[in-house]
Amino acid sequence: MTGTPPNDRQLPAWAPTVGPGWATLLERLHQRLLALAPDYRVESCERNLGGLRICVADRFDEQGYFDGHWADAAALLTDEAEIASGRTCEMCGAPGRPRFRGGQHGSWITALCDPCSADARTHAAPPPARPRQEDSDLETPFSA
Ligand SMILES: [Zn+2]
Repeated sequence: MTGTPPNDRQLPAWAPTVGPGWATLLERLHQRLLALAPDYRVESCERNLGGLRICVADRFDEQGYFDGHWADAAALLTDEAEIASGRTCEMCGAPGRPRFRGGQHGSWITALCDPCSADARTHAAPPPARPRQEDSDLETPFSA
């Protein structure tokens, strides 16, 4: 461990929000971002189209000027991690590819390897295609 104080806006704080297979990837990105800026901050870290979408906060110098070097360097690193996440099983970290997953609350796309994809627990069939209901006033959306 380094002597860096914990920061709840850095990647380790976001890691639990995605599957364990991406933990290594996030840790590697965290170390690289730390090397550039020990106090870097993450605006968001979420699944997007089968991989991760990571948004790192912009930085400004003492005069308030936008730090373009940081933005470029950080984007290079996050892009690399985003691409890698789309090829890494979110559940176990093995080589994978984007696939549909679904559950009671809809379907989404994430990267999975073959064994995890074949496991019904991690790869339930997507629900039947239907228009997304914005209002949830209906008490029984599905009457059997
Ligand atoms: Zn897997």
